[in-house]
Amino acid sequence: LERRKNRLYQINREAARYFYYNLQKNSRGYNYFRKRGVSSNTIKIFGLGYANPEWNDLLKYLVSKGYGEEELLEAGLVIEKKNKNGFYDRFRDRVMFPIVNTRGKVIGFGGRVLDDSVPKYLNSPDTLVFSKGNNLFGLNLVYKNSKIDKILLVEGYMDVISLYNKGIVYSVASLGTAFTESQCKMLKRWNDSIYICYDSDDAGLKASNKALDLLKRVGFKPRVIILPDGLDPDEYINKFGKELFENLFTTALDYIDFKILYYRNKFDINTVQGKVDFIKNISQDIKNISSPVERDVYINRVSDEVNISVDAIKREIFGIKGIKT
Ligand code: ATP
Ligand code: MN
Ligand code: MN
Ligand code: MN
Repeated sequence: LERRKNRLYQINREAARYFYYNLQKNSRGYNYFRKRGVSSNTIKIFGLGYANPEWNDLLKYLVSKGYGEEELLEAGLVIEKKNKNGFYDRFRDRVMFPIVNTRGKVIGFGGRVLDDSVPKYLNSPDTLVFSKGNNLFGLNLVYKNSKIDKILLVEGYMDVISLYNKGIVYSVASLGTAFTESQCKMLKRWNDSIYICYDSDDAGLKASNKALDLLKRVGFKPRVIILPDGLDPDEYINKFGKELFENLFTTALDYIDFKILYYRNKFDINTVQGKVDFIKNISQDIKNISSPVERDVYINRVSDEVNISVDAIKREIFGIKGIKT
């Protein structure tokens, strides 16, 4: 098993090298990154690449290097034809993002189209060496840098890259899946200083709420940054620069402030039903907080916020029946 794994690491490394070389040669791929403001140094640091458009370009290359088609299939780099009569490249005409684990091994890839065709992103499938929920894009660079004292959790490859490119070198992204408990654990070192900064759209807000709950549940002290105008971190930093981005940390929302904002956005607390829904939902969250002191602080905050008595909120949380206000 170790031998097979090592073989897959080797294949992925070779593929990453080839993609990188292609990017340097292919102006279409290279210009794509340059147009998005990515410097040649950032391209190098992340080992960004390009997969040629042909159906079996990588396949031919790696076979010529002595790798077998079955191994390339196992690495997720090729797909078997429907008629079982051979294989073709999974990634074609895409800019490529190598995914590197904390030990520096290339374990998989993300690939993005250069226009707006679909699917926009394609990832390696889970393999012997790659499991999406157990890795974070960018974590390899963070692990190497002992000076990093906080982590910024973002949604996408390009967020990590554009932030790095502008000097924010401590962001990581989950790989096209929801943030998982296992990914959480990889961030233990920074458990007091985790910031979530997802896309500022409905999906991003929802995902922030989930990541916040998960991090909170396993004992972190997460905070949330909400970007204005539906922007994502890549768009924000390219528009406003590093300094304004860093200012966002000072106003990041803690657990209860995010929850208040989140449910206020979801329910109209000026209506009776909206207020009820608000209290019911936020009470459910507060109920899951293990520290009684923290719970009390939160209950007070919520009481102030929606102008409902602390007792009423407590009854909602602890479910005491038979008492009427
Ligand atoms: P870009 O700025 O290049 O358009 P993005 O990162 O802003 O990309 P989003 O649509 O916000 O793109 O998606 C965030 C992340 O979700 C992506 O970086 C990718 O990891 C994942 N993702 C998006 N679309 C897909 C898809 N079709 N299949 C798999 N993963 C995807
Ligand atoms: Mn998005
Ligand atoms: Mn985005
Ligand atoms: Mn984006």
